[in-house]
Amino acid sequence: MLDDFEAASIQVLGSGTSVGVPMVGCDCKVCQSDDPRDKRLRPSVLIRYGPHRVLVDTSPDLRYQALRFGIERLDGVLYTHSHADHILGLDDLRPFNFLQREEIPIYGSAETLDVIERTFGYVFDGVPTESSRPHLTPHRFSEGPVVIRDLEFQPIRLAHGKGTVYGFRFGDCAYLTDHSEIPEESEAQLQQLDVLFLDALRYNPHPTHSTVDQSLKTVEALRPRRAFFTHISHDLSHAAVEARLPSHVRMAFDGLEIPIGRSARA
Ligand SMILES: [Zn+2]
Ligand SMILES: [Zn+2]
Ligand SMILES: [Zn+2]
Repeated sequence: MLDDFEAASIQVLGSGTSVGVPMVGCDCKVCQSDDPRDKRLRPSVLIRYGPHRVLVDTSPDLRYQALRFGIERLDGVLYTHSHADHILGLDDLRPFNFLQREEIPIYGSAETLDVIERTFGYVFDGVPTESSRPHLTPHRFSEGPVVIRDLEFQPIRLAHGKGTVYGFRFGDCAYLTDHSEIPEESEAQLQQLDVLFLDALRYNPHPTHSTVDQSLKTVEALRPRRAFFTHISHDLSHAAVEARLPSHVRMAFDGLEIPIGRSARA
């Protein structure tokens, strides 16, 4: 369990929505902002515990995120769902194969891994090639927890419009990206949290994402000690929105690293 590890943290590698912020060609105030917290790469987080590193999603910005945040090994990759902003950096897992000289386990629902295996056919088809390709071992999860290097990651089923997405709970921390609704049975799995990361795309309603106001309601209902909004669009200025939030709810930003487990109480 998380408390077995002396040092543990969750770091935001990308706090942006699917097109990133700034968006190509956009001259809005947030896209033109000088505040580094308004520069948002595509959505992903890294969980560190002891010497272990678990990545949630392989965003199209994975290569740059790994360089920027000094990621030099990966013990596993958890996939939330198969949307392009969450999977298309998969080929950039190759350097971790080179460094570690081993296959890297990837975890997702059957639905997610089916799409990944189709999208990246060359990775999984077993056809010999002269080029390098990622060496990955797919594991399909259903209800039970995924265990990576002695830490349990509990998949939490959420609605993403008409689709399904999985959040993950590990110890008293949870990361819930892209969702429009949290089913009751999943709410029950999100009690007694110290740290909750959750989707808050913008103020205007969206069919597949939670808004700032909806996420504030979720925080009120689940009562985590601290909450961080992520998967943020260019509609939200970091400073302006954060100024209006209660003090235990903050806007995530790229590079933000939060101690979790024992380190949070030290
Ligand atoms: Zn997304
Ligand atoms: Zn913009
Ligand atoms: Zn999505």
